[in-house]
Order: sequence, then structure tokens, then C-alpha cells
Amino acid sequence: MERRTLLKLAAFSAAAQAVQAAEAPYTLPDLPYAYDALEPYIDAETMRIHHDKHHRAYVDNLNKAVAADAALSKWTVEELLLRLDTLPAAIRTAVRNQGGGHANHALFWQTLCPAGKGGKPEGAFAAAIGNTFGSQAKLEEQLRTAAAGVFGSGWAWLALDSAGKLTIGAAPNQDSPLLAGHRPLMGIDVWEHAYYLKYQNRRADYLAAILHIINWDFVSRRYSQLAG
Ligand code: MN
Repeated sequence: MERRTLLKLAAFSAAAQAVQAAEAPYTLPDLPYAYDALEPYIDAETMRIHHDKHHRAYVDNLNKAVAADAALSKWTVEELLLRLDTLPAAIRTAVRNQGGGHANHALFWQTLCPAGKGGKPEGAFAAAIGNTFGSQAKLEEQLRTAAAGVFGSGWAWLALDSAGKLTIGAAPNQDSPLLAGHRPLMGIDVWEHAYYLKYQNRRADYLAAILHIINWDFVSRRYSQLAG
């Protein structure tokens, strides 16, 4: 290949990358562990499809939704969700679903970790759990109940409400707790894509399993950052 052609290709490639960067402000975060790190509770194949396919689709579709608006694409996904009512009506549903999907999963990966590595609630977070739920076991029981009760696809959430109190609730689809003015601490994904390969219709078994791999150290730190 001629040198001139190579240079043109390189220039074209750089330009294409610049356009790509400008048009794709949201990116898929890497998993903070290997695909098989959560075995046997969540299998590697589920993690691979969940992260590489489902989460990527939320990111790609969010990028498409905001592509026409350079100002919006400077906002974080959390800012988009907090200001959903102010967005152009034509993209509101896409941001709610795809932006919610992106934000929810980006947090979800961080709140999981290999079994035995997650520690336990600490400090102010542990005290708030005691005051609100009585114990960590009761918190987990309420989370499981909320997650088991989701009809169809959705999430159970532990969040801080607008008064800064711990609250557990469920939300349909990819609705972020941010839409209700709550700050999410951790969530349990109960879409079938999160568990069907291994657990099929046994959602209760998946819920019992996932509580073995919660990164409570991360959630404690997040509580300290958000509750302050
Ligand atoms: Mn999911």
C-alpha cells in the first residue's frame, strides 16, 4: 500500500474515532472482576451475556438517544435521570429505560464481589441498618421480599430517601431510584436475564444466592459518601 494511502487511512481513522467519541459519551464500564468470579452463585455465562450484551445495549441505545443533542451528552447518566422531566419529550422514554439500564448496571457490578470478600456493613451504615431494620438479617429479608414481589422485570433497591433515611423498595423495568429522588446504594436485578440460565424460574434460589456475593464494604463506603 502506498504511503500516501496509508496516511489518508490513518487520518480517516483518527477522524472517525473523534466522531465516534463525540457521538458516544457513555461507555460500558469493565467488570471489576472476572466473569467467573461470582461462581457458583452467578455463573460466568450469565455474567458474560448480562454485561457484554445487555448492559452494552443500554449504553449503545442511550448514546443513540442523546446523539442529536451535544449539550445533553455532556451530562452524566445520573444527571440525565435526575432531570428527566426537563428533557425533550421525544427522548424521555429512551433515557428512562436505556439510561436507567446503564446506571443501574454500572452500580450493580460494583456492589457484587466474590463470595467471602464482601465484608459486612460498617460504621454509620451499620448503625443506620440497626436503627432502620433491626439487623442486617432483617434488611436482607426485606430485600428478598421486595425482589421476590417484582411482577415481571425490575429491581429491588436499598436506597437513601429524600430525607436521607434507608429505604427498601421495588421498581419496574429499568426505573432508577433517582427518578423518585432516592439515591441508590445497591440493587438486586430481577430481570430474567440476570438469572434464567442457571436458575430458570427459581427466582427465590437466585435471591438466596446473590446475598452471598454482596460487596458490603463498597456499599458502606457509598453510604458514607451519599449520606454525608
Ligand atoms: Mn440486568
